[in-house]
Amino acid sequence: MIGTITLNPSVDRRYNLKTFEKNNIYRCNQYSATAGGKGINVTKVIDQLNEKVCAYGFLGGFSGDFINQHLKKKQIQSDFTFINGSTRSCINILSDDGDQVEILESGPVIGTDEIVNLMNKLSNKMDSFSVITISGSIPQGVNLDIYCKIINMANNRGVKTVLDTSKETLLNGISGRPYLVKPNKEELEWLIGNTINNEEQLLKACRQVLKMGARNIALSLGSKGMYFIGEKGSYRVTIPRVEAKNPVGSGDSTVAGFGVSLARELDVIDTLKLANACGVANAMEMETGQISLNNVKELMKRIEVSSIYYGGREIESNNF
Ligand code: ADP
Repeated sequence: MIGTITLNPSVDRRYNLKTFEKNNIYRCNQYSATAGGKGINVTKVIDQLNEKVCAYGFLGGFSGDFINQHLKKKQIQSDFTFINGSTRSCINILSDDGDQVEILESGPVIGTDEIVNLMNKLSNKMDSFSVITISGSIPQGVNLDIYCKIINMANNRGVKTVLDTSKETLLNGISGRPYLVKPNKEELEWLIGNTINNEEQLLKACRQVLKMGARNIALSLGSKGMYFIGEKGSYRVTIPRVEAKNPVGSGDSTVAGFGVSLARELDVIDTLKLANACGVANAMEMETGQISLNNVKELMKRIEVSSIYYGGREIESNNF
């Protein structure tokens, strides 16, 4: 069983307009609302990969009910902590010419008893997990070290963790020694406080993150694929060129692929192929957190994973 953690989920609302400007009213007949937040996307993709998953985090108010019902309809298991506050909405307004506005609500303030409730749930269920994925931002009222605490709890019980967040939350989480972190280039640059312009700088930056505490790092580079630097090997992943419809959620789909690979104890090559195939397959769909299993299968055949030299020696291919 994979446990997924989404502390700040959202209802993602999309409005498509011909065009928009300030001080105007628009009628819209092309709009949608879906259960979102990075960890919710991860949960949906793990479920599509036919792996057992249970979603954890905080839900409240009408939007919380919406997300709960959405997962129930899809028969996805969840055990959320229900809160007094209201789950946030994230609004995306898109015009035909490609302009967009995004409004991200900050979300509810979580109470101390609600945090204790979540931590107790995780502690009680920890032995049923092989992997935990931890995604996204931390809501107000929750201390910055919560991911570090969850990772410590998982490490003590032999459960692998995949961490995908940014800035201070990522930095703090890394100090808990997560099994894997999956930053993109921007997030890695923030972590090391420097820009990255070439492969050498990139590999050096990844090594720095391992020194900070992460046991493995998967640096995702959008359509340029991924670098993976781990305890047992360093690899470059090259992905095929595809017609991308909507790459939003590709990082989350990649995390889902990693979670499933770890739960299935795949070797490092197949792990990197599955994780990237999920990211690419998501980019090929309009809907966020949606993959076609046929596409995943076909993409895995076309994704190349090569061992790379680092520090003057070739790193051996080994189990991830
Ligand atoms: P994030 O969403 O966290 O920024 P990325 O954009 O790096 O993550 O995407 C994660 C993975 O998804 C990439 O490593 C790649 O395998 C795949 N991917 C992302 N964008 C594209 C794209 N435009 N075309 C093909 N594959 C993509």
